[in-house]
Amino acid sequence: MEVYAYKCRKCCHVHYPYKMICHGCGENKHDAFDLVPMTKDGKLLTFTIVHNLPPDFEVPTLAIGIVELDDGMRIMGQLKVQEPELGMKLKGKVEVVRHGDYTDYHGMVFYAA
Ligand SMILES: [Zn+2]
Repeated sequence: MEVYAYKCRKCCHVHYPYKMICHGCGENKHDAFDLVPMTKDGKLLTFTIVHNLPPDFEVPTLAIGIVELDDGMRIMGQLKVQEPELGMKLKGKVEVVRHGDYTDYHGMVFYAA
């Protein structure tokens, strides 16, 4: 499964999630962006452990990290790493992160590279 990011046709700046206006060059035409599969590997910038989760998460705690991807984008995702360390290399996968009543929610999950 892929997550798609939005790459500016003019300056190649990559955005996620979608922005109306390019953060690189200010382009704002509706066709200014190409969909590109998001880079999934990067390094851990910071993280936190969440202890009070809603019951539908079905796990006692959750590690959430901010990851700088290899193309410079920063995204938030779940960490499935025994002992997270700042700066460590991670590999991302798109997985179900939460089960809803009618639908499953997908998100990025990072593992030690
Ligand atoms: Zn641009």
